[in-house]
Amino acid sequence: MNVRDSEAVEALLSAAGHVRVDEESDAELVIVNSCTVRDMAERKAVGKCGNLIAAKEGRGRQSETGGRVKVVGLMGCAVKRMGTDVFKALPGLDFAVGPRRFGTIPRLVERCLAGETRILELPDDDEVPAGMDAHGGGASFQSYVTILLGCDNRCSYCIVPDVRGHEYSRPAKEVVAEVRALAARGVKEVCLLGQSVLRYGVRNKAWTADDPASPGGYVEAFPRLLEALSAIDGLERIRFTSAHPKGCTDELVRAYAEFPKVCRHLHLPVQSGSDRILAAMGRRYTRAEYLSAIARLRAFDPEFAVTTDVIVGYPGETDDDFEATRSLMDEAGFDNAFVFKYSPRPGTRSAALPDDVPTAEKERRDQILLAGQQQRGLMRNNRLAGTVREVLVEGPSLRNAARWSGRDGGNRIVVFEPERPLTPGDLVKVRIAEAHPQILVGALV
Ligand code: SAH
Ligand code: SF4
Repeated sequence: MNVRDSEAVEALLSAAGHVRVDEESDAELVIVNSCTVRDMAERKAVGKCGNLIAAKEGRGRQSETGGRVKVVGLMGCAVKRMGTDVFKALPGLDFAVGPRRFGTIPRLVERCLAGETRILELPDDDEVPAGMDAHGGGASFQSYVTILLGCDNRCSYCIVPDVRGHEYSRPAKEVVAEVRALAARGVKEVCLLGQSVLRYGVRNKAWTADDPASPGGYVEAFPRLLEALSAIDGLERIRFTSAHPKGCTDELVRAYAEFPKVCRHLHLPVQSGSDRILAAMGRRYTRAEYLSAIARLRAFDPEFAVTTDVIVGYPGETDDDFEATRSLMDEAGFDNAFVFKYSPRPGTRSAALPDDVPTAEKERRDQILLAGQQQRGLMRNNRLAGTVREVLVEGPSLRNAARWSGRDGGNRIVVFEPERPLTPGDLVKVRIAEAHPQILVGALV
Protein backbone atom coordinates (compact mmCIF):
# COMPACT_ATOMS: atom_id res chain seq x y z
CA MET A 1 0.00 0.00 0.00
CA ASN A 2 2.88 2.33 0.74
CA VAL A 3 4.46 1.62 -2.65
CA ARG A 4 1.18 2.63 -4.24
CA ASP A 5 0.79 5.76 -2.09
CA SER A 6 4.39 6.78 -2.89
CA GLU A 7 3.71 6.35 -6.59
CA ALA A 8 0.61 8.55 -6.33
CA VAL A 9 2.66 11.23 -4.53
CA GLU A 10 5.31 11.06 -7.22
CA ALA A 11 2.64 11.57 -9.88
CA LEU A 12 1.16 14.54 -7.96
CA LEU A 13 4.60 16.13 -7.51
CA SER A 14 5.43 15.63 -11.19
CA ALA A 15 2.17 17.29 -12.13
CA ALA A 16 3.22 20.22 -9.90
CA GLY A 17 6.45 20.60 -11.88
CA HIS A 18 8.92 18.62 -9.76
CA VAL A 19 11.29 16.18 -11.42
CA ARG A 20 12.15 12.74 -10.16
CA VAL A 21 15.86 11.95 -9.73
CA ASP A 22 17.23 8.44 -9.56
CA GLU A 23 19.97 9.05 -7.01
CA GLU A 24 19.16 10.19 -3.52
CA SER A 25 22.33 12.33 -3.60
CA ASP A 26 20.79 14.44 -6.40
CA ALA A 27 17.58 15.17 -4.52
CA GLU A 28 16.52 18.52 -3.06
CA LEU A 29 13.32 17.06 -1.65
CA VAL A 30 13.13 13.67 0.06
CA ILE A 31 9.96 12.18 1.53
CA VAL A 32 10.15 9.01 3.60
CA ASN A 33 7.02 6.87 3.52
CA SER A 34 6.69 5.09 6.85
CA CYS A 35 4.99 1.96 8.11
CA THR A 36 4.16 1.33 11.75
CA VAL A 37 2.68 -2.16 11.50
CA ARG A 38 5.74 -3.56 13.26
CA ASP A 39 8.09 -1.76 15.59
CA MET A 40 11.15 -2.40 13.42
CA ALA A 41 9.50 -0.91 10.33
CA GLU A 42 8.79 2.33 12.15
CA ARG A 43 12.29 2.53 13.61
CA LYS A 44 13.83 2.16 10.17
CA ALA A 45 11.72 4.93 8.66
CA VAL A 46 12.34 7.32 11.53
CA GLY A 47 16.07 6.51 11.55
CA LYS A 48 16.35 7.15 7.84
CA CYS A 49 14.52 10.44 8.20
CA GLY A 50 16.88 11.45 11.03
CA ASN A 51 19.92 10.83 8.80
CA LEU A 52 18.42 12.94 6.02
CA ILE A 53 17.69 15.81 8.41
CA ALA A 54 21.25 15.63 9.79
CA ALA A 55 22.60 15.89 6.25
CA LYS A 56 20.24 18.80 5.49
CA GLU A 57 21.51 20.62 8.57
CA GLY A 58 25.13 20.01 7.61
CA ARG A 59 25.66 17.42 10.31
CA GLY A 60 26.25 13.72 9.72
CA ARG A 61 27.10 12.19 6.40
CA GLN A 62 26.66 14.82 3.70
CA SER A 63 27.45 12.13 1.16
CA GLU A 64 24.06 10.60 1.85
CA THR A 65 22.34 13.52 0.15
CA GLY A 66 25.16 15.18 -1.74
CA GLY A 67 24.46 18.21 0.48
CA ARG A 68 21.62 19.28 -1.80
CA VAL A 69 18.60 18.38 0.26
CA LYS A 70 16.45 21.36 1.28
CA VAL A 71 13.19 19.75 2.40
CA VAL A 72 12.64 16.50 4.30
CA GLY A 73 9.13 15.13 4.80
CA LEU A 74 7.67 12.07 6.46
CA MET A 75 4.42 10.45 5.33
CA GLY A 76 2.54 7.26 6.15
CA CYS A 77 1.10 5.59 9.18
CA ALA A 78 3.96 6.20 11.64
CA VAL A 79 3.03 9.90 11.44
CA LYS A 80 -0.53 9.16 12.52
CA ARG A 81 0.72 7.02 15.40
CA MET A 82 3.25 9.60 16.64
CA GLY A 83 1.13 12.73 16.20
CA THR A 84 2.95 15.83 17.50
CA ASP A 85 5.62 13.56 19.04
CA VAL A 86 7.01 13.21 15.54
CA PHE A 87 8.75 16.59 16.01
CA LYS A 88 10.21 15.44 19.34
CA ALA A 89 11.79 12.48 17.58
CA LEU A 90 12.70 14.55 14.50
CA PRO A 91 13.03 18.26 15.44
CA GLY A 92 14.33 19.29 12.02
CA LEU A 93 11.51 17.67 10.06
CA ASP A 94 9.87 20.04 7.56
CA PHE A 95 6.52 18.31 7.22
CA ALA A 96 4.71 15.19 8.39
CA VAL A 97 1.54 13.84 6.74
CA GLY A 98 -0.56 10.90 7.90
CA PRO A 99 -2.10 8.39 5.51
CA ARG A 100 -5.23 9.53 3.56
CA ARG A 101 -3.85 13.10 3.43
CA PHE A 102 -1.01 12.71 0.92
CA GLY A 103 -2.88 14.75 -1.68
CA THR A 104 -1.74 17.88 0.18
CA ILE A 105 1.97 17.14 -0.28
CA PRO A 106 2.64 19.37 -3.33
CA ARG A 107 1.13 22.30 -1.37
CA LEU A 108 3.19 21.45 1.72
CA VAL A 109 6.38 21.36 -0.31
CA GLU A 110 5.63 24.84 -1.62
CA ARG A 111 5.06 26.13 1.90
CA CYS A 112 8.33 24.60 3.09
CA LEU A 113 10.23 26.11 0.17
CA ALA A 114 8.74 29.47 1.24
CA GLY A 115 10.28 29.00 4.70
CA GLU A 116 7.70 27.16 6.82
CA THR A 117 8.79 24.12 8.75
CA ARG A 118 7.36 21.50 11.12
CA ILE A 119 3.96 21.32 9.44
CA LEU A 120 1.76 18.46 10.66
CA GLU A 121 -1.23 17.10 8.75
CA LEU A 122 -3.25 14.36 10.41
CA PRO A 123 -6.17 12.85 8.49
CA ASP A 124 -9.59 12.05 9.97
CA ASP A 125 -10.55 8.39 10.20
CA ASP A 126 -13.12 8.79 7.44
CA GLU A 127 -11.11 11.00 5.14
CA VAL A 128 -11.13 10.16 1.43
CA PRO A 129 -7.73 11.12 0.02
CA ALA A 130 -7.37 13.41 -2.94
CA GLY A 131 -5.11 12.12 -5.70
CA MET A 132 -5.72 8.44 -5.03
CA ASP A 133 -6.06 7.72 -8.74
CA ALA A 134 -2.86 9.58 -9.73
CA HIS A 135 -0.47 7.38 -11.70
CA GLY A 136 2.92 8.42 -13.02
CA GLY A 137 3.74 8.54 -16.71
CA GLY A 138 6.14 5.57 -16.52
CA ALA A 139 5.56 2.95 -19.19
CA SER A 140 5.06 0.13 -16.73
CA PHE A 141 2.88 -2.86 -17.56
CA GLN A 142 1.90 -3.48 -13.95
CA SER A 143 0.04 -1.21 -11.62
CA TYR A 144 -1.41 -1.14 -8.14
CA VAL A 145 -4.91 0.23 -7.66
CA THR A 146 -6.28 1.03 -4.21
CA ILE A 147 -9.86 -0.15 -3.83
CA LEU A 148 -10.32 -0.19 -0.06
CA LEU A 149 -8.94 2.17 2.57
CA GLY A 150 -8.56 1.56 6.29
CA CYS A 151 -9.82 -1.39 8.27
CA ASP A 152 -12.76 -2.01 10.63
CA ASN A 153 -11.52 -5.33 11.96
CA ARG A 154 -9.93 -5.15 15.36
CA CYS A 155 -7.35 -7.91 15.45
CA SER A 156 -5.85 -7.65 18.93
CA TYR A 157 -2.25 -7.16 17.81
CA CYS A 158 -2.83 -4.78 14.94
CA ILE A 159 -2.34 -1.02 14.80
CA VAL A 160 -3.68 -0.61 11.26
CA PRO A 161 -7.26 0.40 12.21
CA ASP A 162 -5.86 3.15 14.48
CA VAL A 163 -3.57 4.62 11.88
CA ARG A 164 -5.27 3.97 8.55
CA GLY A 165 -8.77 4.89 9.67
CA HIS A 166 -12.16 3.38 8.95
CA GLU A 167 -12.88 1.07 6.11
CA TYR A 168 -13.98 2.82 2.93
CA SER A 169 -14.65 1.20 -0.43
CA ARG A 170 -13.99 3.41 -3.41
CA PRO A 171 -16.97 3.57 -5.79
CA ALA A 172 -16.74 0.77 -8.38
CA LYS A 173 -17.26 3.36 -11.11
CA GLU A 174 -14.04 5.13 -10.07
CA VAL A 175 -12.05 1.90 -9.87
CA VAL A 176 -13.25 0.71 -13.28
CA ALA A 177 -12.44 4.09 -14.87
CA GLU A 178 -8.96 4.06 -13.33
CA VAL A 179 -8.20 0.53 -14.54
CA ARG A 180 -9.60 1.31 -17.99
CA ALA A 181 -7.27 4.32 -18.26
CA LEU A 182 -4.32 2.19 -17.14
CA ALA A 183 -5.12 -0.53 -19.68
CA ALA A 184 -5.36 2.10 -22.42
CA ARG A 185 -1.79 3.12 -21.47
CA GLY A 186 -0.53 -0.44 -21.84
CA VAL A 187 -0.92 -1.80 -18.32
CA LYS A 188 -1.41 -5.57 -18.52
CA GLU A 189 -1.71 -6.44 -14.85
CA VAL A 190 -3.36 -4.67 -11.95
CA CYS A 191 -3.16 -5.57 -8.30
CA LEU A 192 -6.13 -4.33 -6.28
CA LEU A 193 -5.18 -3.20 -2.80
CA GLY A 194 -6.87 -3.13 0.56
CA GLN A 195 -6.41 -4.54 4.05
CA SER A 196 -9.39 -6.88 3.53
CA VAL A 197 -10.33 -6.60 -0.13
CA LEU A 198 -13.05 -9.23 0.26
CA ARG A 199 -14.91 -6.71 2.43
CA TYR A 200 -15.15 -4.43 -0.59
CA GLY A 201 -18.58 -2.77 -0.62
CA VAL A 202 -19.57 -4.07 2.83
CA ARG A 203 -19.32 -0.96 5.02
CA ASN A 204 -20.25 1.52 2.33
CA LYS A 205 -21.89 0.64 -0.96
CA ALA A 206 -19.45 0.54 -3.86
CA TRP A 207 -22.14 -0.09 -6.45
CA THR A 208 -25.01 2.34 -6.73
CA ALA A 209 -28.45 2.07 -8.28
CA ASP A 210 -27.36 3.71 -11.53
CA ASP A 211 -24.59 1.14 -12.13
CA PRO A 212 -25.52 -1.53 -14.69
CA ALA A 213 -26.49 -4.89 -13.20
CA SER A 214 -23.99 -7.73 -13.23
CA PRO A 215 -24.36 -9.77 -16.44
CA GLY A 216 -23.21 -12.88 -14.56
CA GLY A 217 -25.66 -12.24 -11.72
CA TYR A 218 -22.96 -11.51 -9.13
CA VAL A 219 -24.42 -10.12 -5.94
CA GLU A 220 -21.37 -9.59 -3.73
CA ALA A 221 -19.58 -6.33 -4.47
CA PHE A 222 -16.10 -7.77 -4.87
CA PRO A 223 -16.78 -10.64 -7.33
CA ARG A 224 -18.92 -8.15 -9.22
CA LEU A 225 -15.91 -5.81 -9.45
CA LEU A 226 -13.78 -8.69 -10.78
CA GLU A 227 -16.44 -9.28 -13.42
CA ALA A 228 -16.44 -5.63 -14.49
CA LEU A 229 -12.63 -5.42 -14.63
CA SER A 230 -12.41 -8.69 -16.59
CA ALA A 231 -14.32 -7.03 -19.40
CA ILE A 232 -11.62 -4.37 -19.93
CA ASP A 233 -9.77 -4.84 -23.23
CA GLY A 234 -6.01 -5.03 -23.04
CA LEU A 235 -5.95 -5.93 -19.37
CA GLU A 236 -4.57 -9.47 -19.05
CA ARG A 237 -4.29 -10.14 -15.34
CA ILE A 238 -6.09 -9.13 -12.16
CA ARG A 239 -4.57 -9.74 -8.73
CA PHE A 240 -5.57 -8.51 -5.30
CA THR A 241 -4.28 -8.47 -1.73
CA SER A 242 -4.86 -8.93 1.24
CA ALA A 243 -7.82 -11.14 1.97
CA HIS A 244 -9.41 -12.05 5.29
CA PRO A 245 -10.41 -15.73 5.41
CA LYS A 246 -13.98 -14.76 6.37
CA GLY A 247 -14.63 -13.43 2.90
CA CYS A 248 -13.54 -16.49 0.90
CA THR A 249 -17.07 -17.33 -0.31
CA ASP A 250 -18.46 -19.70 -2.94
CA GLU A 251 -19.24 -16.67 -5.09
CA LEU A 252 -15.56 -15.71 -5.03
CA VAL A 253 -14.57 -19.22 -6.12
CA ARG A 254 -17.17 -19.04 -8.91
CA ALA A 255 -15.55 -15.77 -10.08
CA TYR A 256 -12.11 -17.41 -10.18
CA ALA A 257 -13.58 -20.16 -12.35
CA GLU A 258 -15.42 -17.84 -14.66
CA PHE A 259 -12.87 -15.07 -15.20
CA PRO A 260 -9.53 -16.36 -16.48
CA LYS A 261 -7.93 -12.92 -16.08
CA VAL A 262 -8.26 -13.26 -12.32
CA CYS A 263 -5.01 -14.91 -11.22
CA ARG A 264 -5.32 -18.13 -9.27
CA HIS A 265 -3.47 -16.85 -6.25
CA LEU A 266 -4.79 -15.70 -2.92
CA HIS A 267 -2.79 -14.14 -0.12
CA LEU A 268 -4.77 -15.35 2.87
CA PRO A 269 -3.04 -14.47 6.15
CA VAL A 270 -3.73 -17.15 8.76
CA GLN A 271 -1.63 -15.67 11.64
CA SER A 272 -1.84 -18.84 13.78
CA GLY A 273 -2.92 -22.47 13.58
CA SER A 274 -4.06 -22.61 17.21
CA ASP A 275 -7.75 -21.99 17.86
CA ARG A 276 -6.91 -20.60 21.28
CA ILE A 277 -4.55 -17.99 19.81
CA LEU A 278 -6.87 -17.22 16.88
CA ALA A 279 -9.62 -16.45 19.39
CA ALA A 280 -7.27 -14.29 21.46
CA MET A 281 -6.28 -12.44 18.32
CA GLY A 282 -9.94 -11.80 17.47
CA ARG A 283 -9.55 -13.28 13.98
CA ARG A 284 -13.13 -14.64 13.95
CA TYR A 285 -12.36 -17.97 12.25
CA THR A 286 -11.13 -21.34 13.44
CA ARG A 287 -8.34 -23.50 12.11
CA ALA A 288 -10.95 -25.83 10.56
CA GLU A 289 -12.76 -22.95 8.83
CA TYR A 290 -9.48 -21.65 7.46
CA LEU A 291 -8.50 -25.06 6.11
CA SER A 292 -11.90 -25.55 4.51
CA ALA A 293 -11.51 -22.23 2.65
CA ILE A 294 -8.23 -23.55 1.21
CA ALA A 295 -9.79 -26.90 0.39
CA ARG A 296 -12.45 -25.12 -1.67
CA LEU A 297 -9.82 -23.22 -3.67
CA ARG A 298 -7.72 -26.33 -4.27
CA ALA A 299 -10.77 -28.42 -5.19
CA PHE A 300 -11.34 -25.92 -7.97
CA ASP A 301 -7.65 -25.94 -9.02
CA PRO A 302 -5.03 -28.12 -7.26
CA GLU A 303 -2.29 -25.68 -8.35
CA PHE A 304 -4.15 -22.69 -6.90
CA ALA A 305 -1.42 -20.72 -5.10
CA VAL A 306 -2.12 -19.80 -1.50
CA THR A 307 0.31 -17.62 0.43
CA THR A 308 0.04 -16.44 3.99
CA ASP A 309 1.28 -14.35 6.92
CA VAL A 310 2.03 -15.92 10.29
CA ILE A 311 2.89 -14.31 13.62
CA VAL A 312 5.12 -16.22 16.04
CA GLY A 313 5.45 -15.37 19.74
CA TYR A 314 2.01 -13.85 20.32
CA PRO A 315 1.53 -13.31 24.10
CA GLY A 316 0.96 -16.64 25.80
CA GLU A 317 1.84 -18.73 22.72
CA THR A 318 2.84 -22.14 24.14
CA ASP A 319 4.81 -24.94 22.50
CA ASP A 320 1.49 -26.63 21.71
CA ASP A 321 0.10 -23.48 20.08
CA PHE A 322 3.23 -23.18 18.02
CA GLU A 323 3.06 -26.84 17.03
CA ALA A 324 -0.53 -26.21 15.84
CA THR A 325 0.75 -23.43 13.57
CA ARG A 326 3.54 -25.63 12.26
CA SER A 327 1.16 -28.46 11.44
CA LEU A 328 -1.41 -26.14 9.90
CA MET A 329 1.22 -24.89 7.50
CA ASP A 330 1.83 -28.48 6.36
CA GLU A 331 -1.85 -29.20 6.01
CA ALA A 332 -2.53 -26.00 4.11
CA GLY A 333 0.40 -26.61 1.75
CA PHE A 334 1.24 -22.93 1.38
CA ASP A 335 3.11 -21.87 -1.73
CA ASN A 336 4.83 -19.10 0.20
CA ALA A 337 4.68 -17.62 3.68
CA PHE A 338 5.83 -14.50 5.48
CA VAL A 339 6.63 -15.11 9.14
CA PHE A 340 6.64 -12.19 11.58
CA LYS A 341 7.91 -12.09 15.13
CA TYR A 342 5.25 -10.52 17.32
CA SER A 343 5.95 -6.98 18.47
CA PRO A 344 3.53 -5.09 20.72
CA ARG A 345 2.06 -1.98 19.10
CA PRO A 346 0.99 0.93 21.33
CA GLY A 347 -2.74 1.17 21.91
CA THR A 348 -3.63 -2.29 20.63
CA ARG A 349 -5.44 -4.78 22.88
CA SER A 350 -2.57 -7.24 22.99
CA ALA A 351 -0.11 -4.51 24.00
CA ALA A 352 -1.72 -4.72 27.46
CA LEU A 353 -0.67 -8.38 27.74
CA PRO A 354 2.84 -9.40 28.79
CA ASP A 355 5.07 -9.92 25.74
CA ASP A 356 6.17 -13.16 27.36
CA VAL A 357 7.73 -15.21 24.58
CA PRO A 358 11.46 -14.45 24.80
CA THR A 359 13.11 -12.95 21.71
CA ALA A 360 15.35 -16.01 21.28
CA GLU A 361 12.30 -18.28 21.31
CA LYS A 362 10.50 -16.09 18.75
CA GLU A 363 13.60 -16.34 16.58
CA ARG A 364 13.70 -20.15 16.99
CA ARG A 365 10.02 -20.49 16.00
CA ASP A 366 10.58 -18.16 13.07
CA GLN A 367 13.49 -20.28 11.81
CA ILE A 368 11.54 -23.53 12.15
CA LEU A 369 8.63 -22.16 10.12
CA LEU A 370 10.92 -20.69 7.47
CA ALA A 371 12.82 -23.98 7.08
CA GLY A 372 9.50 -25.83 6.81
CA GLN A 373 8.33 -23.40 4.15
CA GLN A 374 11.51 -23.91 2.09
CA GLN A 375 10.79 -27.64 1.93
CA ARG A 376 7.09 -27.15 1.33
CA GLY A 377 7.75 -24.57 -1.39
CA LEU A 378 10.00 -27.07 -3.14
CA MET A 379 7.34 -29.80 -2.87
CA ARG A 380 4.64 -27.51 -4.24
CA ASN A 381 6.89 -26.33 -7.06
CA ASN A 382 8.01 -29.88 -7.93
CA ARG A 383 4.43 -30.63 -8.92
CA LEU A 384 4.80 -28.12 -11.74
CA ALA A 385 7.91 -29.71 -13.32
CA GLY A 386 7.15 -30.62 -16.93
CA THR A 387 4.04 -28.43 -17.13
CA VAL A 388 3.65 -25.29 -19.23
CA ARG A 389 2.96 -22.05 -17.33
CA GLU A 390 1.78 -18.75 -18.72
CA VAL A 391 4.28 -16.10 -17.67
CA LEU A 392 4.08 -12.31 -17.71
CA VAL A 393 7.61 -11.23 -18.62
CA GLU A 394 9.20 -8.75 -16.19
CA GLY A 395 12.74 -8.42 -17.61
CA PRO A 396 16.31 -9.58 -16.98
CA SER A 397 16.59 -11.64 -13.81
CA LEU A 398 18.14 -9.82 -10.86
CA ARG A 399 20.68 -12.57 -10.12
CA ASN A 400 21.75 -13.35 -13.68
CA ALA A 401 21.04 -10.80 -16.39
CA ALA A 402 21.56 -13.41 -19.14
CA ARG A 403 18.27 -14.92 -17.99
CA TRP A 404 14.88 -13.29 -17.88
CA SER A 405 12.19 -13.68 -15.32
CA GLY A 406 8.48 -13.19 -14.92
CA ARG A 407 5.60 -14.57 -12.89
CA ASP A 408 2.96 -17.16 -13.50
CA GLY A 409 -0.65 -16.68 -12.44
CA GLY A 410 0.19 -18.12 -9.02
CA ASN A 411 2.73 -15.30 -8.55
CA ARG A 412 5.58 -17.84 -8.76
CA ILE A 413 8.84 -16.47 -10.15
CA VAL A 414 9.72 -18.21 -13.42
CA VAL A 415 13.24 -17.85 -14.90
CA PHE A 416 14.07 -18.72 -18.52
CA GLU A 417 16.56 -18.01 -21.35
CA PRO A 418 15.30 -15.23 -23.62
CA GLU A 419 15.76 -17.19 -26.84
CA ARG A 420 13.85 -14.60 -28.86
CA PRO A 421 13.48 -10.83 -28.48
CA LEU A 422 11.10 -10.09 -25.62
CA THR A 423 9.64 -6.98 -24.06
CA PRO A 424 8.62 -6.62 -20.42
CA GLY A 425 4.86 -7.08 -20.33
CA ASP A 426 4.79 -9.88 -22.94
CA LEU A 427 2.79 -12.98 -22.05
CA VAL A 428 4.76 -16.12 -22.92
CA LYS A 429 4.51 -19.85 -22.30
CA VAL A 430 7.33 -21.53 -20.41
CA ARG A 431 7.81 -25.27 -19.93
CA ILE A 432 9.12 -25.85 -16.40
CA ALA A 433 12.30 -27.91 -16.22
CA GLU A 434 13.52 -27.37 -12.66
CA ALA A 435 11.81 -26.50 -9.41
CA HIS A 436 13.42 -24.69 -6.49
CA PRO A 437 11.81 -23.58 -3.21
CA GLN A 438 11.33 -20.00 -4.42
CA ILE A 439 11.62 -20.15 -8.21
CA LEU A 440 10.83 -22.24 -11.25
CA VAL A 441 13.29 -22.55 -14.14
CA GLY A 442 12.19 -23.44 -17.65
CA ALA A 443 12.39 -22.82 -21.39
CA LEU A 444 10.23 -20.74 -23.71
CA VAL A 445 7.69 -22.79 -25.68
N1 SAH B 1 -4.82 -6.80 6.59
C1 SAH B 1 -3.96 -7.90 6.54
C2 SAH B 1 -2.66 -7.72 7.28
C3 SAH B 1 -2.03 -6.39 7.34
S1 SAH B 1 -0.60 -6.25 8.37
C4 SAH B 1 -4.68 -9.08 7.17
O1 SAH B 1 -5.56 -8.93 7.99
O2 SAH B 1 -4.34 -10.18 6.85
C5 SAH B 1 0.52 -7.38 7.58
C6 SAH B 1 0.98 -8.48 8.47
O3 SAH B 1 1.78 -7.97 9.51
C7 SAH B 1 -0.12 -9.24 9.19
O4 SAH B 1 -0.71 -10.22 8.40
C8 SAH B 1 0.59 -9.81 10.39
O5 SAH B 1 1.08 -11.10 10.10
C9 SAH B 1 1.75 -8.84 10.60
N2 SAH B 1 1.55 -8.07 11.82
C10 SAH B 1 0.58 -7.16 12.09
N3 SAH B 1 0.72 -6.67 13.34
C11 SAH B 1 1.80 -7.28 13.88
C12 SAH B 1 2.46 -7.20 15.16
N4 SAH B 1 2.01 -6.41 16.12
N5 SAH B 1 3.57 -7.96 15.35
C13 SAH B 1 4.02 -8.79 14.37
N6 SAH B 1 3.43 -8.91 13.18
C14 SAH B 1 2.34 -8.16 12.92
FE1 SF4 C 1 -4.95 -5.50 11.01
FE2 SF4 C 1 -6.75 -7.43 11.30
FE3 SF4 C 1 -7.33 -5.21 9.88
FE4 SF4 C 1 -5.60 -6.99 8.90
S1 SF4 C 1 -7.78 -7.35 9.31
S2 SF4 C 1 -5.35 -4.76 8.94
S3 SF4 C 1 -4.57 -7.70 10.74
S4 SF4 C 1 -6.94 -5.31 12.07
